[in-house]
Amino acid sequence: MKILVFIDNRKNILKKADLEIAYYGHLIAEKHGGDVAAMVVGSGDGAGDLGKYGANEVINVPYDGSYDVSVFSNIIAQVAEQTGAELIVLPHNSSGKPLIGWLAAKMNLSSVTGVINIPEYDDGKLEFKKGVFSSKAYAYVKTLTDKAIVSLMPNSFSPEEVGSQVDVKTVEIDGGAPKVKVVGVEKVEGKVPLPEADIIVSGGRGMKGPENWGVLEDLAEVLGAATACSRPVSDVDWRPHTEHVGQTGIVVRPNLYIALGISGAIQHLAGVNNSKTIVVINKDPEAPFFKAADYGIVADLFEVVPKLTEALKEYKAGKG
Ligand SMILES: Cc1cc2nc3c(=O)[nH]c(=O)nc-3n(C[C@H](O)[C@H](O)[C@H](O)COP(=O)(O)OP(=O)(O)OC[C@H]3O[C@@H](n4cnc5c(N)ncnc54)[C@H](O)[C@@H]3O)c2cc1C
Repeated sequence: MKILVFIDNRKNILKKADLEIAYYGHLIAEKHGGDVAAMVVGSGDGAGDLGKYGANEVINVPYDGSYDVSVFSNIIAQVAEQTGAELIVLPHNSSGKPLIGWLAAKMNLSSVTGVINIPEYDDGKLEFKKGVFSSKAYAYVKTLTDKAIVSLMPNSFSPEEVGSQVDVKTVEIDGGAPKVKVVGVEKVEGKVPLPEADIIVSGGRGMKGPENWGVLEDLAEVLGAATACSRPVSDVDWRPHTEHVGQTGIVVRPNLYIALGISGAIQHLAGVNNSKTIVVINKDPEAPFFKAADYGIVADLFEVVPKLTEALKEYKAGKG
């Protein structure tokens, strides 16, 4: 099977999600046979590293315009045609999500969004697994056309080195005139985006007020973690809305989610229950979050967290 994975590299920084998608292609090829072409739109600098994570070839399509669904779908469709791709994989993020519907319609493909498994073959068709109802349930979706397009949920697979660097082939492709123009972007600088974070330390109303966030930030710093919060916390402006996770906020899938003073309401859990490991610190033993936790500490967070931070600092300094 020829697998084409799409990487938006206009910022010239290969992210963990990009390595993950190359590795995902490799896992499918390893299971079912075939090879992986990684197409990198934007800068091709360093893109040969995708070979280390499973891409057999890397195709760079230089592009310095802004994100445009119509241009990107034209480019992907042409590369898919040239490579004979039978399965196209996009990241299920702000780059990939808007594209999947366009491409499925344009190329008459089966599409499945937010997949989380290495597909099985059933009657010669690929069957994917995805979370539904805020990942409270799973759906198994079979693609019925010969070629398919899927988007991969972030943090579903940890990228591992399985190969070596490959040469980057540059291909000029005209994606046509853009249909929209981005006139401004405001972004939070210098922080790991929450959907990509490996570790998240998150605070709720139990933090009592914004003046106490240093306790949480110290723990986050020693762990190299991103920070998040529950919705009431951002509603009262203790923290920015960019940190609000849950059903109405950002959905995260880190390897480790540490919840400080968060009760674990169903709307909060909807955004975090796909975390690999959940640690809850709450002084109420009846807090619902403990039911979803892998590890729980029933305690006052203001007593426990500074001690935990100190212990981690000592451990990192080699004294632990
Ligand atoms: C339509 C809708 C959508 C919603 N969407 C979201 C969403 O996306 N995300 C979200 O988070 N919420 C959402 N909510 C709100 C949600 O229902 C809860 O109200 C909210 O998650 C509670 O936030 P919290 O846990 O921070 O606060 P609380 O429920 O007040 O819990 C605070 C917790 O801190 C603990 N605590 C207090 N002091 C300490 C201490 N010193 N040490 C340790 N623990 C302590 C308490 O025991 C308690 O469990 C939504 C609600 C609705 C109706």
